[in-house]
Amino acid sequence: MTTTAEIFVDGKFLKADQVQPVIEAATGEPLGDGASATEADIDAAVAAARAALAEWQSASPDHRADVLTAFAAALESRARSTDELVSRENGMPMSLSRGANGRFPAALVRYYAQLITETPIEEIRPSMIGHTVVRREAVGVVAAIVPWNYPQALAAFKLAPALAAGCTVVLKAAPETALDALVFAQAAEEAGLPAGVLNIVPGGASAGAHLVSHPGVDKVTFTGSTAAGRAIGEVCGRLLRPVTLELGGKSAAIILDDADLDATIKGLRNASLVNNGQTCHLSSRILAPRSRYGEVLDALVGMVGALNIGDPLDKSTDIGPLVSARQRERVLGYIESGKASSAKLVAGGSVPADQPRGWFVSPTVFADVDNSDRIAQEEIFGPVLAVIPYDGDEEAVALANDSEFGLAGTVWSTDDERAIDVARAVRTGTVGINDYQLDFRAPFGGVKASGIGRELGPEGLDAFFALKSIYRVGPADD
Ligand code: NAD
Repeated sequence: MTTTAEIFVDGKFLKADQVQPVIEAATGEPLGDGASATEADIDAAVAAARAALAEWQSASPDHRADVLTAFAAALESRARSTDELVSRENGMPMSLSRGANGRFPAALVRYYAQLITETPIEEIRPSMIGHTVVRREAVGVVAAIVPWNYPQALAAFKLAPALAAGCTVVLKAAPETALDALVFAQAAEEAGLPAGVLNIVPGGASAGAHLVSHPGVDKVTFTGSTAAGRAIGEVCGRLLRPVTLELGGKSAAIILDDADLDATIKGLRNASLVNNGQTCHLSSRILAPRSRYGEVLDALVGMVGALNIGDPLDKSTDIGPLVSARQRERVLGYIESGKASSAKLVAGGSVPADQPRGWFVSPTVFADVDNSDRIAQEEIFGPVLAVIPYDGDEEAVALANDSEFGLAGTVWSTDDERAIDVARAVRTGTVGINDYQLDFRAPFGGVKASGIGRELGPEGLDAFFALKSIYRVGPADD
């Protein structure tokens, strides 16, 4: 375990001047000292990224792909210890951690390493005066800011395409997961990423704000809450700085009246509760057809009652603790607001009696929720489900769309075509049919208050290019 708080700047591990303890989610005990980057640390990281930019962006795509392939291998070789570290930091059950941490970032880095070798850097198009060369150039120094819930995967969403495109990066990790962020630094050093190409500065919101408005930054890419996203978007708007925002959600699971209930409830375990409810794309508003309402409710209550709550390091655990005391207070506050509303609490609703340490909350289900209630409109970021009855597909779609957010959603049905029609009508960036699994070859992101722009897939690489058109007279040489 790291005991000295460090940042990684210009290819060097530096002892942090300012430290913040990282607390183990399941025990509430200190896990290690994390760096809490100062403005001077951010300034040094941006300066290093600027200095490294010219060489990295002018390296051939094949060369960058080779370095990134070595980077992926270095991440993968650390996967087991990374998985455990993240689960200790944020409470992620190990069964999820095994895929979402060490292995997923490595796979994503490999995907973009391959994609950059297949992406034309210059395209020639005929024009009125001759032809135009359309160039994809690296957008420059990237400020990447990530939350604690999937610290490795969400950082990889940004680092992998940015580095492949030829950008240099300053990654500001969240203080709750300051320790695992340094794994990227160890892997970068082992893979021979040139100094300054990737800089890691864990720290709080003020360090993030300093980075966003830094004059040395060319592009901001952020994942986190809608409130912070609005603040960052305002700054980037004023500076006319390109920005990608992946924000919160309050997605709906539409259970159609022909759904196979056993399969649906099994699928919803993941789609509505994965990572202890701390996932942005969860279908946490469950829309149930009135004709099968009682059946759906009983099945959901049965499902949450059978979940294994406990040590995230135990492979059989379904629900671990929330990330922090602050997050647990927030979630318990939402549960109180549900109890005070006209909704009926039918499962959970408190801290589990057999988990006196750490930040656990029992999986909770509210029935008869009105879609305008706080627990149906606001993102809770904990294991709390709101069940809402509806009549007819049209009302289900209207309820799903009656939300400030538009990140994700799911449709559950035995009729695939009917489900896809419903999915087409839902106003979100992604929808799963009878499951919800991200596909890293396809764009991911939200509409409305869930964000601006897309990550993953070729679109996620495009986000790190600036396009230049060079108009030439005469025909192109072949
Ligand atoms: P948060 O917005 O408070 O923090 C996220 C990150 O931003 C942290 O690193 C934090 O230090 C930094 N930050 C906060 N305010 C900032 C500011 N003004 N300027 C610059 N940086 C700032 O969010 P959180 O509570 O840590 O994370 C949970 C939120 O993230 C949830 O709302 C969730 O939906 C969202 N999220 C979205 C996605 C997605 O892809 N859409 C994925 C995961 C999480």
